[in-house]
Amino acid sequence: MSQNEDWESALDKIDWNDVLQDVDKQLLENLAAELRFKSYESLELASQPLGDGYYITYLSEGTWAFWNNARYVEEDVQFFETSQQFLHFALERFKIQGEEVESLINLLSETRQMKQCAYCECEFDPEDPARKELGIDGIYLDEEEQERECCSPQCAVEAMVQEWKEG
Ligand SMILES: [Zn+2]
Repeated sequence: MSQNEDWESALDKIDWNDVLQDVDKQLLENLAAELRFKSYESLELASQPLGDGYYITYLSEGTWAFWNNARYVEEDVQFFETSQQFLHFALERFKIQGEEVESLINLLSETRQMKQCAYCECEFDPEDPARKELGIDGIYLDEEEQERECCSPQCAVEAMVQEWKEG
């Protein structure tokens, strides 16, 4: 068997669907990192689906990120200062009218705002069902003032260890 044939049979054995899926996954993880989420899974869970792969995410700093999980490569994430601005954009772009406008307004008003972890600075959903399941109601480095909230028990522990080291 020549070396060329080896190559060809090796290529034949690769499942390109798997490879492409891995690439897609990596791109989605990049998208999550761009929006300062720990994983794509947490980004998707925290975002409001608008149909056709479009999502809107209400970030901790008050801006709105609009993105598409299938068209992420061709279409950059777009940011809006207010939900009103996004609404204007959506009305023009998707030519929505009447009841659709109302349901979009409702969706936006139901979209939860993210918080930023006081330790790792990632965005997290304070109402994340997975957190609730673990009985995590809000982990504050400053319990009394309920300030400096952490995304996870791990971050709270690491923040405390760091404070001891520095103290
Ligand atoms: Zn964190």
